[in-house]
Amino acid sequence: MDAPFLPYGRQFLDEKDVQRVVEALRSEYLTTGPLVTAFEKDMAKACSASFGVAVCNGTAALHCAMYALEIHPGDEVIVPAMTFAATANAILYQGGTPVFADVLPTTLCLDPQHAQSLITSRTKAIIAMDYAGQPADYDELQALCSRYGLHLVADACHSLSGSYKGRPVGSLAELNVFSFHPVKPMTTGEGGMILTDSQELAARMRRLRNHGMDADFRQREEASAWEYDITDLGWNYRLTDIQCALGLSQLEKLPAATAWRRELAQEYATRLRPLAPHAVPLSVLPDRRSSWHLFVLRVDFQGLGLSKAAVFRQLRNEGIGVNVHYKPVHLHSFYRQRLGVGPGLCPVAEAAYEQLLTLPLHPAMSHSDIARVVNALTNTLAAYGMKP
Ligand SMILES: *Cc1c(COP(=O)(O)O)cnc(C)c1O
Repeated sequence: MDAPFLPYGRQFLDEKDVQRVVEALRSEYLTTGPLVTAFEKDMAKACSASFGVAVCNGTAALHCAMYALEIHPGDEVIVPAMTFAATANAILYQGGTPVFADVLPTTLCLDPQHAQSLITSRTKAIIAMDYAGQPADYDELQALCSRYGLHLVADACHSLSGSYKGRPVGSLAELNVFSFHPVKPMTTGEGGMILTDSQELAARMRRLRNHGMDADFRQREEASAWEYDITDLGWNYRLTDIQCALGLSQLEKLPAATAWRRELAQEYATRLRPLAPHAVPLSVLPDRRSSWHLFVLRVDFQGLGLSKAAVFRQLRNEGIGVNVHYKPVHLHSFYRQRLGVGPGLCPVAEAAYEQLLTLPLHPAMSHSDIARVVNALTNTLAAYGMKP
């Protein structure tokens, strides 16, 4: 009788995906092969970028980006407080200092004005994050970066297939970083990529992912050469051909998957209207398109006199996989201790955190799943004392 658990996000795979992976398993190269190059090319083409560099996950992609931009100890990089910790960690891996900026109340993306107020002589870069799939304010951020001579990086782990003023995500910053974790817009199991128009940065990141070597295994095989030089302290951040086969197949279906997410999101918006102003979906601005990675609701728990924890537990008990994205990074104990940050630093992000509730949204869901979630939410809020 119990309805199945509805996770907040989940991969969508079909038989074609399985077939492509099986073909890769039967091919000559399991890693460093032609499917890696093909996946990079197709991603770059889909996002109007010149070059793609595939790596083993989104965090590795962010780390490569920070290394390629030569972030060193003493350098500061501005990041939004409302993001996944990996955005800030990539800076710390290089010995740099993440500087947390607040977000805009409408989109929960980086606030360009607050970012500007944090620029010092040590600032080297800004990393924007496209919260829930909606691109950040790239024109304002690019103007800021040009003015102060900073690098602009997009943590686009949420927003693959989104766009900003008609320009696709992946072409909006100097380095554009993606994750292919199963909950993201498309998956390779684990995986990541950096898209860029800079041939030099792309070449550098290709070396970094492969121990800092200036020629990979296939290049040496094809040239019948054994020699290579090591030019950087690299890592093994390679993505396999098996994973790239899945990525190529997923990418073909991405437009249809995003269109379906958008339709489901519209249905959420319609069905949630009676809960306004107590519960309001995050707005998407008219000049941008979201990938609809997450469906985020802001619930005025405090105004309603409700416990967010109790509502959360009740929904989970009913099989509704609600979640919270995110507790602002500067509130976690590691960053407080390491960087001396804490509550009060980013008031908009901190206030939003009290209200945020991510509702399930992924391509395997149906219209009736949306109705089920909204009914459960409405009943739960009423049961815990919300008066319409
Ligand atoms: C998922 C995610 C990452 C990290 O990606 P992984 O592939 O899990 O390493 C980084 N930043 C943001 C905003 C993410 O959502």
